[in-house]
Amino acid sequence: MQPLSELPIGVFYWIGEEPATTVAEIAALDPEACQLAVTGEVRLTRELAAGYRAALAAAGLRAITVFAAYEGESYADIATVQRTVGFLPRATRAQRERRTREVIDFAAATGIPSFATHVGFVPEERSSADYIEVRDVVRRLADYAASCGMTFCLETGQESAPLLLEFLHDVARPNVKVNFDPANMVLYGSGEPIEAFRLLRPHVVTIHGKDGDWPAAPGALGRERVLGTGSVDIPRFVRVVRESGFPGSIHVESGVHGDEPRAVTLRSAIRLLKELKGC
Ligand code: MG
Repeated sequence: MQPLSELPIGVFYWIGEEPATTVAEIAALDPEACQLAVTGEVRLTRELAAGYRAALAAAGLRAITVFAAYEGESYADIATVQRTVGFLPRATRAQRERRTREVIDFAAATGIPSFATHVGFVPEERSSADYIEVRDVVRRLADYAASCGMTFCLETGQESAPLLLEFLHDVARPNVKVNFDPANMVLYGSGEPIEAFRLLRPHVVTIHGKDGDWPAAPGALGRERVLGTGSVDIPRFVRVVRESGFPGSIHVESGVHGDEPRAVTLRSAIRLLKELKGC
């Protein structure tokens, strides 16, 4: 496998149970690395991990992170995200902790060094039962990831950067890091993304290339945009990332594709980031 270039540009990609097909789709986008995203429905067997390991090796493609989403999550609006996403909902907390261990096992068996997820809105009140229980779930899972030699990344955006920083300090696990998503900061109205990146930079190991506009009203979610057309100011963001000496990778994560087929939009976004990192 080729060594990675400086600031590799990758793609975040939802995987299925046919590794050869999925890896061929990813490779066709011409990324320099990738993150594999797993919904709660994917059956994570030893055979699937072996299949992905072989398919990635055959394609010469490096997977940096496995991302987990869970059954029952919805990103319809901020209230629904608070009710359904990550480890905050009490009814599914134990089941999602078990599922996360399976995802970490899958990542380890596939030879992927990092796991990431939205843990859900971190409650602002540090003495609340939910804050303490979410913190403890993250500690247990971080320790489990560490036993597999892996990093556990928290996805940004659902809380402000200072609150996430405080949560990281409370979790107090050296393998808990950050996957920084500049668009989420905008979409959730959580803070100016470049300022947030500067604050979290020592903890950031991977970044999402995503764009969007600010919410129109309090409580609403902003609108995702095709990369480079939203309020993040992607050229300036990439310049700040590069100038900070960031040693990780940026992965296009795009749920909007305008009038283009999905693969065309993703390829264009990867090409845009490759151009910007050279500027
Ligand atoms: Mg993201």
